[in-house]
Amino acid sequence: MISKVLVANRGEIAIRVMRACHEAGISTVAVYSEADKDSLFVKYADEACQIGPGPARGSYLDIESILKAARKTGAQAIHPGYGFLAENPHFARSCEDSGITFIGPASRVLELVGSKTTARNIATDAGVPVVPGIEDCSDFNLCSRQIESMGYPVIIKPAEGGGGIGMQVVRSKNELKRALETSMAIAASAFGRQNLYIEKYLDRPRHIEVQILADNHGNTVHLGERECSIQRMHNKLVEEAPSPAVTPRIRSEAGQMAIDFARNIDYRGAGTVEFMYCEGRFYFLEMNPRVQVEHTVTEMVTGIDIVKEQLRVASGLPLSMRQEDVTFNGWAIECRINAEDPLNNFAPSPGKLTGYRSPGGIGIRVDSGVYNGAAITHFYHPMISKLLAWGRDRSEAITRMRRALYEYIIAGVKTNVILHKAIMENPDFVSGRLSTEFLALNNGLIEDMLRIEQRDSKATERLKGAFGN
Ligand code: ADP
Repeated sequence: MISKVLVANRGEIAIRVMRACHEAGISTVAVYSEADKDSLFVKYADEACQIGPGPARGSYLDIESILKAARKTGAQAIHPGYGFLAENPHFARSCEDSGITFIGPASRVLELVGSKTTARNIATDAGVPVVPGIEDCSDFNLCSRQIESMGYPVIIKPAEGGGGIGMQVVRSKNELKRALETSMAIAASAFGRQNLYIEKYLDRPRHIEVQILADNHGNTVHLGERECSIQRMHNKLVEEAPSPAVTPRIRSEAGQMAIDFARNIDYRGAGTVEFMYCEGRFYFLEMNPRVQVEHTVTEMVTGIDIVKEQLRVASGLPLSMRQEDVTFNGWAIECRINAEDPLNNFAPSPGKLTGYRSPGGIGIRVDSGVYNGAAITHFYHPMISKLLAWGRDRSEAITRMRRALYEYIIAGVKTNVILHKAIMENPDFVSGRLSTEFLALNNGLIEDMLRIEQRDSKATERLKGAFGN
């Protein structure tokens, strides 16, 4: 059994991983940048090593410094969290070569799923449907002809990409050349590879993904689906489990597709198979070979600690459950609370939290890496916390989330709490009419935010007075 884990990440996910370690009796090592020296995760860890300056390139992305810290502290395993090096095959291989357990799948598997085109071929092999697409975009004329026969709109994606970076929707032939050129340039600078591929752009699909877990003893299970259709610029903002569009029969079909995909590549650990769901059909999108930001909603409805299962698998133990043991109870919703201004084109709002009090009470979970007085720095993604509400059904989860958002006191930076309030009151959201175009189609949200801000202002001031500074 692993007895010491180094967490190669920061913020809320570093604390999330350390919490699981704590419960499992595993001691923890934090690595941190100069900018994070006062961060909560550094204080939470049993040991901590500073590994470099604020910019991630010299710290959270510096493989050598992280391995050095692991050797120095005697950590037997590294948990990469999400983002940074979590999907980097070179990092996983460096761990393997140094005799340190990488808590995730093998570097070979990261390589396979790191390419969206390779992953599509694996899906096809496993009998999992994919969106119609074009994998070779090097010859413009050929590519343009193929699109004509498929029909516009299409979406261009960097083949080795992520985070929505470099993706562009193209609606007509005369936009194509320019779009290919700009995506190629973005792909080259963001991912070091310029290859692109093109998919048919589906009309108002839902984003539905399936959580899987696989051990070294032949057991692969799915933990049901998450709906992540509320997105801004292809990035998730609100997630829920289960999906309002999924019945038990659809759940076991999607679950089986995810398991088939994972089995096909001998997958180990926790992973997510992402799909677009459109007119009653699933289309494979990609596999995320790591713990995801939104794994928490699945934990709330299944009661399974996904990070603890990752630790078990990394230690060579079997998963603590079989498929028939997985049951679903109630509904969970997550709001990603960011330091950004939704009334000013989501401009990041770094700064010091001069007053902070997170909500509580029945059914609420807050995963965060901040405290009153902590700083949100411009070096990293400005996420403050993940706020979760659980209810016996969707309607109770929504009402509880509204109540929690009302209680949330964050002073000193601008936040998107007001947007989440508007979403939780939106009739389309409340009735479960969701698609990835939800935010783009709901122009009225700005007026709703202003109205809600006005409506809640007295109460907010009162609470700030009591709990802020
Ligand atoms: P990334 O890895 O950069 O996050 P994904 O391939 O996972 O990119 O897609 C992110 C989001 O982009 C999806 O959740 C969806 O909203 C949108 N998207 C991607 N492919 C399509 C498609 N073929 N049709 C419609 N929307 C898409």
